[in-house]
Amino acid sequence: MGKIIIAGNWKMHKTQAEALEFLQVLKSNLEEANEAREIVLCAPFTALGVMSKSLHGGLIRLGAQNIHWEEKGAYTGEISGLMLKELGVDYVVVGHSERRQYFGETDETANLRVIAAQRHGLTPILCVGESKSQRDAGETETVIINQVKRGLVDVDQSNLVIAYEPIWAIGTGDTCEATEANRVIGLIRSQLSKKEVTIQYGGSVKPSNVDEIMAQPEIDGALVGGASLDPVGFARIVNYQ
Ligand code: PEP
Repeated sequence: MGKIIIAGNWKMHKTQAEALEFLQVLKSNLEEANEAREIVLCAPFTALGVMSKSLHGGLIRLGAQNIHWEEKGAYTGEISGLMLKELGVDYVVVGHSERRQYFGETDETANLRVIAAQRHGLTPILCVGESKSQRDAGETETVIINQVKRGLVDVDQSNLVIAYEPIWAIGTGDTCEATEANRVIGLIRSQLSKKEVTIQYGGSVKPSNVDEIMAQPEIDGALVGGASLDPVGFARIVNYQ
């Protein structure tokens, strides 16, 4: 069992003004009793600066959605760990299935990004997950084990979060059965040298299913896409029972 971390992945949503408005509503809906739960908002790069100033060291932490492995250079459209650190970022999502599907991310580039994040004192959230056709073909276990192994070459497991995100459950409303997510997350944990790594579930997590998901013994948190865009709903997810 790792530290409980509930993270929102805003993807390409929210201007700076919208992000600040979200923070105000979220803060007023958080229950104090839940201070042991880490809350992370993975916002677009453009919103990170103003959010960081508004949060100034409170309970909510900031995450980015990508990091390049070099410090600087001719890599148009990329961002470095130095730049993220300066903005007050603590976490970074790496290897999300949308990056793999639309932008050519591989296990090898995800691995480089994980290592770069750690070098800058950021905590990488490495995403792994099988597609519907891989699941139907009975390949889930092999796919997941390979993604974990290749993504974690030379990685320090003491500063790491893994998110199990079955691709067929992302943005579809089709959540993986909580017990099945628990089983796959147990499998991921069995591949790790440090058993206390936080392993999240992601894929259509919402206020109505978060309690069941978080009741599973292997699941240490959630990575939430669509349902993290509404501050009241996201507060309910953070305040899971
Ligand atoms: C995600 O993008 O990481 C995700 C889990 O999205 P959703 O919650 O919308 O399925």
